[in-house]
Amino acid sequence: MSNYKQALTNNIFKVISLASAELQLESYVIGGFVRDYILQRGEHKDIDIVAVGSGIELARKVSDLLPHKPKVQIFKTYGTAMLRAYDMEVEFVGSRKESYSQESRNPEVESGTLEDDQNRRDFTINALALSLNEETYGELLDPFNGLQDLNTGIIRTPLDPDITYSDDPLRMLRAVRFASQLGFRIEKSSLEAINRNRNRIKIISRERVVDELNKILLSEKPSVGFALLHKTGMLRLILPELIALEGIDEIEGQRHKDNFWHTLEVVDNISENTNDLWLRWAALLHDIGKAPTKKFDKKMGWTFHGHEFVGSKMVYKLFKRLRMPLNEKMKFVQKMVLMSSRPIVLAEDVTDSAVRRLIFDAGENIEDLMTLCEADITTKNPRRFKRYHNNFQVVRQKLKKVEERDHVRNFQPPVTGEEIMETFNIKPSREIGIIKDAIKEAILEGEIPNEYESAKEFMLKKGKDIGLKPQN
Ligand code: ATP
Ligand code: MG
Repeated sequence: MSNYKQALTNNIFKVISLASAELQLESYVIGGFVRDYILQRGEHKDIDIVAVGSGIELARKVSDLLPHKPKVQIFKTYGTAMLRAYDMEVEFVGSRKESYSQESRNPEVESGTLEDDQNRRDFTINALALSLNEETYGELLDPFNGLQDLNTGIIRTPLDPDITYSDDPLRMLRAVRFASQLGFRIEKSSLEAINRNRNRIKIISRERVVDELNKILLSEKPSVGFALLHKTGMLRLILPELIALEGIDEIEGQRHKDNFWHTLEVVDNISENTNDLWLRWAALLHDIGKAPTKKFDKKMGWTFHGHEFVGSKMVYKLFKRLRMPLNEKMKFVQKMVLMSSRPIVLAEDVTDSAVRRLIFDAGENIEDLMTLCEADITTKNPRRFKRYHNNFQVVRQKLKKVEERDHVRNFQPPVTGEEIMETFNIKPSREIGIIKDAIKEAILEGEIPNEYESAKEFMLKKGKDIGLKPQN
């Protein structure tokens, strides 16, 4: 029998072992910690402990034995307890059997053996348990050959997949998420069962759905997860906006690209350059406006006029529907979608004023916007690929040069509203806005440099133009 004592060197395990002995009950580490240890994925910071007995009592005992007596948080409805120690978050649960009803993913629970508890786990790779009992410390309990599935990279349910997924449909999303995070394959009968049960994801709270979507997006190659969501039919239920991008139309011999598969490539590309969840969301949604704006024009061919604007509006609706935060993160995603074509236009013809406008409009997000646009290059033609990337190099250099000279990135009006009011002896009024705007425009157009003296001179001239007189 394999022994994994070396996985259990953190003091917390010794203390749990001791506490279990004192209470004369058995306990095991189970789930993610064991899985990630064997996969050498770095330390899993949340530990799940199964006690054959009361998890809550065990947690209390562990806290007693610890020098700093950490607070034990108890979740009565779930019969679980949690405490923090040695930089770990430890969750305790009593081993249990579960039975489910149709309407909810919250089961009836009764206590059971370790095997009962392993049976209720979602996947064989998540049912691996390590003994914390004195005589068998570190021994692996693996009733479903989870170790083999870990080694061959397979997501499989311990029991009949139809029952496992129907009992708790969240597991269908978890299957996809783990496949994406770990680069694993979902075993055939599981995939088929997900297909049959996919409509049951409707009973999952949207927050949980979004949690899993975020984890898929944060995986190394998110397209793995999204392709599986697509294949199992779940994507249509969760993100129909993306499904609407699928397919290639042809009229008069002209075809446009399949924007769904293109989008997945863009998400993979951007994931090589950023771990920012919201920038990855922006990549996922950057083309959603293309479905409702698609038209065929006899002269122009396929067009998607205004898709960036339409797309940015759709972002709000989508976030709202999924109960995602409607805060500055959402605004960031909207802004990225709205501006997603701007640098591309520049790549063809880079004038200083166009560059200044881009920097002004993108503000502090200019870097992210460039990252998005570079990820958007998915052409399979190596010459074009190179040319597009070179074009963006030129844009980047220009951005740098112009910003160093003109400082419009965090634009502050060089002449304040107060100064305008004092100069012309006027009260707050429309004129002030007109003058400020004219100054800003003149700077962006390159008529005047972004500095006080020139702006003041321009203000005096503009004021006179609209019939104002300076005080003295
Ligand atoms: P991660 O922490 O990376 O999300 P994990 O496997 O640790 O991965 P948790 O959500 O922390 O996932 O759950 C811990 C363990 O609890 C899992 O390994 C699994 O054994 C079990 N588990 C979690 N959610 C479910 C579920 N919906 N159905 C069955 N078992 C589950
Ligand atoms: Mg975990």
